[in-house]
Amino acid sequence: MFVGTGYSYLQEYVIHAAQAVVRQSWTDVVGLGRMVLSYPDLPADSLAGQSLTRTKICRTFSDCTTAPRHGLRSGCYPLDDFYKSLQPDAAGMKAIKKSEHDASSNS
Ligand code: SF4
Repeated sequence: MFVGTGYSYLQEYVIHAAQAVVRQSWTDVVGLGRMVLSYPDLPADSLAGQSLTRTKICRTFSDCTTAPRHGLRSGCYPLDDFYKSLQPDAAGMKAIKKSEHDASSNS
């Protein structure tokens, strides 16, 4: 059994790409990682033939991986209202991003 990974990076094309690679037997299934944090209903919406909700599609900002590297809870801080208001983690993420932005501006 092979599970394809990395497909969240394809954003709104993820469903089409997943269908194609499974159909061609390039992989047995396509796993969704970070996309499920921002849009847990994406597989259900797709299987129901509904248009995807663009505002929920993971845009690969990587806050969900940056947060736990700094001891904060993982979650989709940019797109999920729950994490946007989750304190003190949301404030911590904002401070981390400002620090990273300032560091890159000064290099
Ligand atoms: S934080 Fe960024 S990478 Fe992570 S799920 Fe949300 S949009 Fe995607």
